[in-house]
Amino acid sequence: MRFLLTGGAGYIGSHTCVSLLNAGHDIVVIDNLSNSSPVAIERVEEITGKKIAFYVGDCCDEDFLNEVLDNEQVDAAVHFAGLKAVGESVSIPLRYYKNNIDSTIALCNALAAHNVKRIVFSSSATVYGNSEIVPMREDLPLGVCTNPYGWTKWMNEQILRDLHVSDPEWSVVLLRYFNPVGAHESGKIGEDPSGIPNNLMPFICQTAAGIRKELSIFGNDYDTPDGTCVRDYIHVMDLADGHLKALEYATVHQGVETFNLGTGEGYSVYQMVAAFERANHLTLPHRDAPRRPGDIAQSYADPAKANRILGWKATHTLDDMCRDAWNWQSHNPTGYPKEDA
Ligand code: NAD
Ligand code: UDP
Repeated sequence: MRFLLTGGAGYIGSHTCVSLLNAGHDIVVIDNLSNSSPVAIERVEEITGKKIAFYVGDCCDEDFLNEVLDNEQVDAAVHFAGLKAVGESVSIPLRYYKNNIDSTIALCNALAAHNVKRIVFSSSATVYGNSEIVPMREDLPLGVCTNPYGWTKWMNEQILRDLHVSDPEWSVVLLRYFNPVGAHESGKIGEDPSGIPNNLMPFICQTAAGIRKELSIFGNDYDTPDGTCVRDYIHVMDLADGHLKALEYATVHQGVETFNLGTGEGYSVYQMVAAFERANHLTLPHRDAPRRPGDIAQSYADPAKANRILGWKATHTLDDMCRDAWNWQSHNPTGYPKEDA
């Protein structure tokens, strides 16, 4: 089959390109490169030995999307494109609402105009808000989000549910990711954050590479086994395979389904530091620091529904995640080469 991936040059999108191509599907990628490099697409082509139809442009531009879909017939779309920095979304909320919501509306209009009524959407565990009921199941009531980024995920889910009510021919799969980390085992593609990383694993990697002096561990007095926050870290290639399963599901089912993509295992920040040191035989400078505002103590998935309905299960271990993250970082200390871009 042939799938459209918006935001396909980004971190999760590029890894999903590899999974889909390796499974024998064709792909079309649209990305405005606002947070990614075209080198990621070249590297995916190197890894898979296959070509990608790649269009640089903005998903909020419906005319542009219509032009692409006039040229490229697709069976379904995955909508990765979006801005994702939580802190930045608090400073420039309108930009987040505009980009993340307009792009979904423009994409759905363009898809419908081409009679493609199948979409997989990149949602997030953030829609559970500050709920601390764990493990988190898909039928947990949606929470109160703590930042505009989270609300854009919450609102996009609602927009897509409403779209299906208006036209039951739509097949909508909402994927709620937990904490994606790691990289393709080749070390050719990976996470390339701009500026100082907010997320734990890229900060750990940059500290190990000597780019950051030390990791600050935000809070050691939470109500968790060792006092540090617990998250469900999932290898990005497992997440990528979840998209393959979701697309296969969306092509044969109509309706709206929501799936958690997580391992179901929670690890604390201290455990992550220890695992990274163990897997990569190095010492990571770190210190305890005050809590980070907005953090919840624990978040981990109940992934049983994805296992049951999609036949999907995460298979990579925490050691795999730490090893592959460092393999990417150590081979690409400053991310994708800027001169090729
Ligand atoms: P990313 O920033 O690496 O990838 C997003 C891509 O979308 C980038 O390549 C960017 O250039 C592109 N983009 C943004 N706005 C666009 C627009 N208007 N038109 C065209 N392209 C546009 O992020 P990622 O980590 O790969 O995340 C992919 C999706 O998954 C995002 O929607 C994100 O919110 C969601 N998500 C990510 C995480 C995570 O921890 N990484 C967790 C939950 C959900
Ligand atoms: N964290 C940390 N130091 C950092 C970055 C993150 O201690 O430099 C902690 C953070 O407080 C949280 C966990 O690591 O408890 C995961 O943070 P991340 O931002 O990666 O994911 P999220 O909190 O959005 O699930």
